[in-house]
Amino acid sequence: MTVSTLPGHPFIAYQDGALCVEQVRLSDLAQTHGTPLFVYSKAAMLSALAAYQRGFAGRQAQICYAMKANSSLAVLQVFAQAGCGFDIVSAGELARVLAAGGDPAKVIFSGVGKTRAEMQQALQVGIGCFNVESTAELDVLSQVATAMGRTAPVSLRVNPNVDPKTHPYISTGLKGNKFGVAHEDTVRIYQHAASLPGLKVVGIDCHIGSQITEVTPYLDAMDRVLDLVTEIEAAGVPIHHIDFGGGLGINYNGDTPPEADALWAQLLAKLDARGFGDRQLMIEPGRSLVGNAGVCLSEVLYLKPGEQKNFCIIDAAMNDLPRPAMYQAFHHITPLQVREGAGTLYDVVGPICESGDWIGRERTLNVQPGDVLAVLSAGAYCMSMSSNYNTRGRAAEVLVDGAQVHLIRQRESVFDTFQLEHLVG
Ligand SMILES: *Cc1c(COP(=O)(O)O)cnc(C)c1O
Repeated sequence: MTVSTLPGHPFIAYQDGALCVEQVRLSDLAQTHGTPLFVYSKAAMLSALAAYQRGFAGRQAQICYAMKANSSLAVLQVFAQAGCGFDIVSAGELARVLAAGGDPAKVIFSGVGKTRAEMQQALQVGIGCFNVESTAELDVLSQVATAMGRTAPVSLRVNPNVDPKTHPYISTGLKGNKFGVAHEDTVRIYQHAASLPGLKVVGIDCHIGSQITEVTPYLDAMDRVLDLVTEIEAAGVPIHHIDFGGGLGINYNGDTPPEADALWAQLLAKLDARGFGDRQLMIEPGRSLVGNAGVCLSEVLYLKPGEQKNFCIIDAAMNDLPRPAMYQAFHHITPLQVREGAGTLYDVVGPICESGDWIGRERTLNVQPGDVLAVLSAGAYCMSMSSNYNTRGRAAEVLVDGAQVHLIRQRESVFDTFQLEHLVG
């Protein structure tokens, strides 16, 4: 058997010319479950997690999977069983963690706009920490907790004002950004938090952006956060844990992010050198745990040659794969079966009535209608961002584990998409 792996995708390979995830042929999955279909490799998720676990060996560290990257229950179950906590951004995500068997004590609640109802639900189940992003939110959380006779564990999300050198929409640690509290206000806000009756200060956190492919922004952010910890503790507020957020990038198109263990070797060396090596650590990786563990299968519907461009129209669209339309993101697209001969240059587009509905531009493909394509790096921020735009039901999802195939989400029917609606009268 000839096997050729795809760079950055160790569990996805052509075996005798047929694309496989672990030991399963993707064309078999497309046949059985239809398209568009998301397929995830359990081994790829666990191997991405293992890189972080190696990096933190011998340390007090909690990995909280940032589940907005992919919040499907079975994906959460895999991470919960592997010992992960979760970084959530809504009460809906909290409900998913509980449904998947996750431990609420290992949940941290991020986000700039938590509602009172969300705070109550999180306090009720006893989450590990609220990552608070403003003074106003501290005040409300203290009120809510006091009214319930509880104490809310809090950390402040600080804005270290470093440039993560990524797309502006996914950069979150710069001034002029809605996230976190400003560096210069941090000590004062910590003192305020420590004075509130319903709160217990437990930590500090930062998250500087997403799809970060360099080490330097992390090192800079760590320096700034550690400077702050020194100042905050000097002002009389002890900081038990330090949460460095997520944001590590993946290889979409020749990107070369550091491996998680290599990144953390450098960060831990700095932490030790600065005398903070014995602190409880937390991280919130999302994309780097799931992004390259998933592909989206989509059938070629029509080839439409044009004077200026040729279009390859597929049955997946921006409602299934929103990243190209949202961030001009690049996903590799590759056929499940390799055909002999030269390819043609196509823009790969979906059926949605928007010019922004493209999946890949200027791709050389040798395909015919009825062929199935795999859109790679589709494990993060695809299904979790999908919508019903154009009244398209959401895709089905499958988890591959060795030679085993689990249908983890059925295809949504058109009826499902409007069953909560009512006619008038
Ligand atoms: C989105 C997010 C993450 C995860 O980011 P990735 O780039 O997917 O690793 C972590 N923490 C917070 C607060 C986030 O908003």
